[in-house]
Amino acid sequence: MDVPYWVDKAVAVDYLIRAETVAGFSMKENTSSSLQHADPAVASLIDAERERQESTLNLIAAENTAPAAVLEALGSCFNNKTAEGYPGRRYHTGCGVADELEQLAVDRAKALFGAGHANVQPHSGVNANLAVYGAVLKPGDTILSMKLSHGGHLSHGDAASITGRIFQAAHYGVSPGTERLDYDAIREQALRLRPRMLVAGASSYPRLIDYPALRAIADEVSAYLLVDMAHIAGLVAARVIPSPVPHAHFVTFTTYKTLMGPHGGVILCPAEFARQVDRSIFPGTQGTPTLSLVAAKAVCFHRAAQEEFRAVQARTLKTAALLAAELSRRGYRPVSGGTDNHLVLIDLRGKGLTGDRAEAALEAAGILGNRNVIPFDPESTQVTSGLRFGTPGICTRGMGEEETRHIAGWIDRILSRPEDRSVQQAVRREVRGLCRRFPLQPNREEVA
Ligand SMILES: *Cc1c(COP(=O)(O)O)cnc(C)c1O
Repeated sequence: MDVPYWVDKAVAVDYLIRAETVAGFSMKENTSSSLQHADPAVASLIDAERERQESTLNLIAAENTAPAAVLEALGSCFNNKTAEGYPGRRYHTGCGVADELEQLAVDRAKALFGAGHANVQPHSGVNANLAVYGAVLKPGDTILSMKLSHGGHLSHGDAASITGRIFQAAHYGVSPGTERLDYDAIREQALRLRPRMLVAGASSYPRLIDYPALRAIADEVSAYLLVDMAHIAGLVAARVIPSPVPHAHFVTFTTYKTLMGPHGGVILCPAEFARQVDRSIFPGTQGTPTLSLVAAKAVCFHRAAQEEFRAVQARTLKTAALLAAELSRRGYRPVSGGTDNHLVLIDLRGKGLTGDRAEAALEAAGILGNRNVIPFDPESTQVTSGLRFGTPGICTRGMGEEETRHIAGWIDRILSRPEDRSVQQAVRREVRGLCRRFPLQPNREEVA
């Protein structure tokens, strides 16, 4: 086994950090003295969490690292302002600056995605979906969406979600042979069920979605098409994969996944639906917008329009494909044979492993993925036959193909002997070394 050249240096830095921690104060970070003074318990948890993020490899496909500028906006004095309503139409005084901020965020979102209208107030992705349903559906209407167990999302009418109680939900899935969407089968289902809304978008589908095909199906049955692009919004913003925006009646997304922003949601639609969507957020399903969150979204859209962001997204696609290939040649079967986006879903059955055991063994070595059901999974959602990986987190901190190859090798070393603590400890040291070379926020001085 070849030891990467950065390991020695990293071990030395590790000792240094440990010495500081033992002394009761980490010089490395980073909570402000006012928080440390006001609430040492929370301050130390924040420091511990930062250290955890700094020293582990985040391959959780739904996560990312927001830049310091986004965190600064999120922690800003806009938190202190309430502003029920929309720019120019508020129910409180003192909203002049807030109006400018929200309009800036809206204009940036529209420009970034080429949309006629944007609502930047949803507190989360689920809120954004709820508001879209509320804008054009009535309780009891039928929606047709992707099955949760094949990669869809709870908020698309799953029985465990309130959306499954309000609406009649029916689900389409992937074909057993290809593990990809079968648009002829979706069309037949739509013709049979005549849904009011067709919903697309997924959390663990590694392939591109054919939006024109779905729009044609929706038009044929007079349904609305909602595309929930939560996972892939960053890739879409960077134009490295096709956009649903020209094809869908409504597009929703979260800003914290590939898009690298704060935890929040956005709705895009043509101008003709603007009023219905806005009323469905406020007063329909939310109260005041979280203006500090709106500020952080504005920063996120600004960064997403820049070349540096595009390069990260392009590298995310490349490294995901490489990770799929590297794991595949070691006998880990990627569901659907590979990936077209940022995520890789591995079928562990050929290795005699389950998702829960694999996830735990990897975490012990500082490699974070997550257990995930695969299509037609014989195991429960707690156990699962699958592992989901994504490369946004490692690419945001600057890693690329060379590092991805190392990571694939480490994953194989661990999963080949999942109960072997010494293998986990050895890989853990190497993971720490790699993490030291690629700090979470290269321009950390922005925080100060
Ligand atoms: C992550 C995700 C969401 C959930 O967003 P929250 O911000 O957690 O509410 C919604 N839809 C899809 C497809 C997702 O992947």
